[in-house]
Amino acid sequence: MVIVMGQEATGDDLASIVAVVQAAGVEAFVSRGVRRTIVGLVGDVAQLDEASLRGMPGVRDVMRVSTPYKLVSRENHPERSTVHVGGVPIGPGTVTLIAGPCAVETPQQTLEAARMAMVAGATLLRGGAFKPRTSPYAFQGLGEQGLRILADVREETGLPIVTEVVDAQDVELVASYADMLQVGTRNAQNFALLQAVGAAGKPVMLKRGMNATIEEWLMAAEYVAQRGNLDIVLCERGVRTFETATRNTLDISAVPVAQRLSHLPVIVDPSHSGGRRDLVLPLTRAAIGVGADGVIIDVHPHPEQALCDGPQALVDGDLGELAQVMRDFPPLLGKSAAAAMVV
Ligand code: PEP
Ligand code: MN
Repeated sequence: MVIVMGQEATGDDLASIVAVVQAAGVEAFVSRGVRRTIVGLVGDVAQLDEASLRGMPGVRDVMRVSTPYKLVSRENHPERSTVHVGGVPIGPGTVTLIAGPCAVETPQQTLEAARMAMVAGATLLRGGAFKPRTSPYAFQGLGEQGLRILADVREETGLPIVTEVVDAQDVELVASYADMLQVGTRNAQNFALLQAVGAAGKPVMLKRGMNATIEEWLMAAEYVAQRGNLDIVLCERGVRTFETATRNTLDISAVPVAQRLSHLPVIVDPSHSGGRRDLVLPLTRAAIGVGADGVIIDVHPHPEQALCDGPQALVDGDLGELAQVMRDFPPLLGKSAAAAMVV
């Protein structure tokens, strides 16, 4: 059972709840978040009277959820959620395009990539300043300098920024620049990082671990939610299989499955899943067709010079077709075309 406290709840309200719960022999775990405080109950909750808990001062909601993830579960939150990133919605009514370079390399490259993203209809800019690379000898990202470049490009274009954080110690720094914090596949079960981004007060994009089941993915999201942050977008980015023709295998069925199990928006990364430029548009069409709430796509003005993931980046010549897909496909699903940017 989970008790969600309202914003108006006082310390005394919380103490009374904990006392009632403990008197029934049940343990109470209090998580104080930026926006909400949550009390997780462990033990024989059958002893507790849900209606009287609900009536206690400061209580907003009491949830009895059968799934192991509670706050992100759709069981108690039948309506699908919309997450707003710098005013841009990601949710059931729209298909949001997030695009930009895999890594921030130079101010010019980032600005050019942002302009390419806008031509394709993107309303959010992606770009990594801290890169989680398989090899310690590969380009690791520009760090804070990269964040400053992203902030300058946001200023120039109006596009809010989505950028990855790889270390719990950097969360505050990255959150001071980013509009949305990305947690990558390699950190998808880094629980200390998940808790830190949950406490940062910024929307979070949580990629699926490349070897994570859908339940493990939702449990990872629960770590973020449990810190009081329910502004989470799930991102399917392919899982590791025996297949070598593609970088990862896009698990397209994960989109409707996750949407049925969780109220959180679900988007797809057709760039990192296929790992090949020629697959990005077909996989984008598939993602929108299956009901994804958005796509996140790599673009680069000169992919042959890219310091990271050049082979999967779309080039100028691909943008017209991507724009057309973003315009024509969402209405077929009863969604609006790429969400309008609110500046
Ligand atoms: C990325 O989006 O830049 C990235 C590293 O993705 P993933 O974590 O899915 O590999
Ligand atoms: Mn990449």
